[in-house]
Parts: sequence; structure tokens; C-alpha cells
Amino acid sequence: MVASNRVVVVGGGLGGLAAACTLAARGYGVTVFEASPWLGGKATVLSEAGFRFDMGPTILTIPDVLRRIFREAGRNLDDYVNLVRLDPQWRCFFGDGSTLDLVENVERMAKSLDGYSPNTGTADGYRNFLKLSDRLHRVSDEYFFWKSIGGIRDMIDVKGGFKPKIVGDVRAMRMGRSVAGTVRKFIPDARVAQMIDHFTQYVGSSPEASPAVLCGIAHMQTEDGIWYPMGGTRAVPEALVKFGTELGVDFRPNTGIKRLIVADGKTVTGVETDGGEIVEAAAVVSNADSVRTHRELLPDAPKAARKFDRRRKYEPACSGVVLYLGLNKAYDHLLHHDFVFSRDPHEEFDFIYRKGEPAPDPTCYLAATSRTDPATAPPGGEALYVLVHTPYLRPHHDWKQMLPAYRRVILDKLKTTGKMPDLESRIVFESVLTPQDIHDRYRVLNGAIYGLASHGKWLGAFKPANRSPDLRNLYLAGGAAHPGPGMPMVLMSGWIAADSLDTDGVVVR
Ligand SMILES: Cc1cc2nc3c(=O)[nH]c(=O)nc-3n(C[C@H](O)[C@H](O)[C@H](O)COP(=O)(O)OP(=O)(O)OC[C@H]3O[C@@H](n4cnc5c(N)ncnc54)[C@H](O)[C@@H]3O)c2cc1C
Repeated sequence: MVASNRVVVVGGGLGGLAAACTLAARGYGVTVFEASPWLGGKATVLSEAGFRFDMGPTILTIPDVLRRIFREAGRNLDDYVNLVRLDPQWRCFFGDGSTLDLVENVERMAKSLDGYSPNTGTADGYRNFLKLSDRLHRVSDEYFFWKSIGGIRDMIDVKGGFKPKIVGDVRAMRMGRSVAGTVRKFIPDARVAQMIDHFTQYVGSSPEASPAVLCGIAHMQTEDGIWYPMGGTRAVPEALVKFGTELGVDFRPNTGIKRLIVADGKTVTGVETDGGEIVEAAAVVSNADSVRTHRELLPDAPKAARKFDRRRKYEPACSGVVLYLGLNKAYDHLLHHDFVFSRDPHEEFDFIYRKGEPAPDPTCYLAATSRTDPATAPPGGEALYVLVHTPYLRPHHDWKQMLPAYRRVILDKLKTTGKMPDLESRIVFESVLTPQDIHDRYRVLNGAIYGLASHGKWLGAFKPANRSPDLRNLYLAGGAAHPGPGMPMVLMSGWIAADSLDTDGVVVR
């Protein structure tokens, strides 16, 4: 029997913070160890020369996940963060010079598609695609979200028998088909199909290799909206840290964890910090990358670590290059979120996800935040955030050497397809994040932005379960654990890890 109710969380990313707050709200004593000097992991900020950039995530969807975490202690999220709904959600720039705004109301969007792509059936195709997406969203809510899932068996109560509804829901998942293939069954206009493909970029995976169930992401966004936390996405970890502090969470930044302590090769009983401090714990939630947790932090449990590693082939999600451009003059034709699309999605995804090389003509995502939050730039200026997805790090990738040429590719793309011919003359501040920087700053797998890829038309959506099947009292949270990457999903993963721990009753309170 364990006499302590202390739970240790390794890593203070959004998943770790969500787990810590949920556990503290349920009465546990929680210590969060974070190797970096800041809390929030990738959700951090760059403030320089009068410009303020969110360094990592910029698009917040499904805010109800965050609300649920605050409700654990009867608190209201709105008392901690001021969320602003953005509609239109994205402005899209295509190689043929056309632009298209994605608006959240499905009927309004379909009407706009009637004008954008007349007599092609695209408007009706969009309506029908969103009906499928709605169904897949419901299937995810029912079988996939809010519980620890590591594979299809965890999803379905096999003992309860295969009821007709379950059979229908499994069929709706279109297992064996890809996102890109499914989108093109509905949407004849290649530009609109390319726009919809890009929902899988939220999970850093190729739409050509990802399972069709991920088509549900479109409906999650049209129904629940895109939100901007005033002050930047950084406001989300700040709110969680404030909430956690009120609940008594002990935050220990600047303190890396060297290993998890395992008794008898089976039960996690604590951690050792990089400085050699031994901290006993009734349970540990690891918010470090799940693969690296097993490969690097479990020297006491080599068998359990090997079992995890053999379970499947873990492929990192994509990485990326981010340019943070401080402009002395904003561009009026941009919205808060913009996509400047590649000339050919197949070529782009083939380079990033199959060949493992940067795409010669990439899609650039832009965040131009000053129209919502003027404090991000000096008056009239713009803190322009430019993200281009790249392959995860391969041994021959040397980004110090690769960056200058790729920066030029990105700027040329923005000048032409993005309609910003004088971009370079407006830049008064510039900083950059490369795949190597992402790897080093956030201790991820091969520079991956979004944890593990969702590749595999049958089982690609599954990630390692939040409740470790290999070690007692070990729980996993973050982008490389169920249900996957992106702010709402990692917050949910933290909640699930905490809830599983609480349900298991590992701690004597
Ligand atoms: C450039 C970029 C753009 C993105 N855009 C979006 C977006 O628009 N919308 C969206 O929803 N998501 C986006 N994401 C993804 C999103 O940021 C991540 O999915 C999410 O923030 C990851 O949270 P996490 O819980 O997995 O933790 P991480 O942020 O990965 O944090 C894990 C923490 O664990 C710490 N750690 C690791 N090992 C140890 C150890 N041994 N000891 C102590 N601490 C340790 C690390 O230092 C790190 O702080 C983006 C990410 C990046 C980088």
C-alpha cells in the first residue's frame, strides 16, 4: 500500500498542466517537473523589438475541453482567459490567384462555394462532406474521446456484443480509406479539396496516408469554432498555471527528470531529477514524448520499455520551419489565419511525408494577429508568423546549412501566391525556429511538432494509451499519447491520464 498521495508529472506542456490541474482539483498533491525555465512547453511566446509572437500553437479549437478542466474545481474558464471567436476562420490563397474564405456556417460556406466554383457540384459536395464529418465527429465523441484508448479493442465493449448501431458507426469510419481519397469523393474542385485536406495538418500527417475518420476534424472546427485567447495562445498555459497554483500544485521549472524509478521492473514509484534528487510518488504522469519516455527514462524497466517499443512502429509527425517576421506595415488583405497553398498537394505531401525532404513549393500558414490583438505589434505593424511544415528530422538534415535556401523559397511563395511582393522591405525584425530547434527546445521525437503521425488507413488514429499497459502507476499525456496532438487533444490527454489514475485508485488519500 502506498502511503502518499503525491503524484509527479514529468513535463509542463499543456498535457502535463491539464493532468496536474485535474489531479489537484480531485484532491491529489501534485508536483510538476519541467526541464525548461518556462511552463507550457511548445505554447510559449517570443517578445522582441515591440513584436509579440506565439512561438508554437496559434489556432485554438474545441475550447470546451479546456472548460471541462476548469470545471473540475467548479471554476469558470472565462474568469481566466478572454476567448474571441474568429469567423471567417481561414483565408486561403491559391496558385491560380484566387482567394477563398472558410466560414464556420456550413450553409453560408456552401453558398460562397456556389460563386467560387459554379456548376461543379462543389457546394453540394461540401454540404454532404460536412454531414459525413458531423457523423465522424459524433463517432469520435462516443468511442474515442475522454477515455484511455490504445487500439480498437479499447474502443468497443466487445463483451456487450456488436449492436447494429456500433456496426453502423464502424462502417461510417470508412476504415481502409484515406482522408484525401474521401475528400475527393465529395469535392470536385481541386482547390477546395486542398483546403479541406489541410485539417490533417493539425495533426502533422499526410491526408493521403491518414485514416478517413480524421475527416471529423472539419466538423469539430465548423461547429465549435476557432478561438483566439487575448494575449495570445500563451494565455492558455498561463491560465492553467494560475489555476494549478490556486489548487496547490507545486511547479518545479528548470528541473529535468533523468529517470523514472521502477520497483521490480513493474511498478513506478518515483523519479530522479537531473540533479540527483529522488522524489517518491504514488504515480507518475509523463508528459514527455511517450516514445522517449520509454527509450530514455526507464533504465530500471528494460523489459517493459522493449514491450512498448515492439508494440508498433512509431513514426514521428511532421516538423516545421517558423519565421517570425516583424513588419513595419501590416498587410490589409490578410485575415488572422491564412493559408498560402502549394501548387500541388500531392507533390507537397509526397516530399514531406514520403521522401522526407522539404517541399520545393510548400504551403505557408500565416498568423497575422494584430487585427484581433493590436498589442502584438507597434501601431500599423504586424507580427507575422509563418509556419511551413517539413519532414521530421533525418540524420542528413543539417538545418543550419539548409535554412538560407529554404527561407528564400518561403519568402518567394509569400511574395507571389501570398500577394506580398514588397514583403522583404517591410521586415524590421526576424527570428526563426527550425526542426533542429524544435527538437532541442521541446525534447521531442526527431523534431516532430505534433508527436506521432496518424499514418495507416486502418489504425493510424491510435496512439499509445494514457494508462500504460506495461507498467503499473505510469500514465501518459501529450501529443504522442492518446488522443493525439494539437492543443485540445493534448489537454484532453492530460485529463484522461488524470482520470484514469483517479479511477484506478492507485493513491491512498
Ligand atoms: C510551431 C508549432 C505550431 C503549432 N501550431 C498549433 C496550432 O496552431 N494549434 C494547435 O492546436 N496545436 C499546434 N501545435 C501543436 C501543439 O503546440 C502541441 O500539440 C502541444 O502544445 C503539445 O503539448 P504536449 O502536452 O504534448 O507538451 P509539449 O509542449 O511537447 O511539452 C512537453 C514538455 O515536457 C518537457 N520535458 C520533456 N522531457 C522532460 C524531462 N525528462 N524532464 C522534465 N521535463 C521534460 C519539455 O521540456 C516540454 O516542456 C503547434 C506546435 C508547434 C511547435
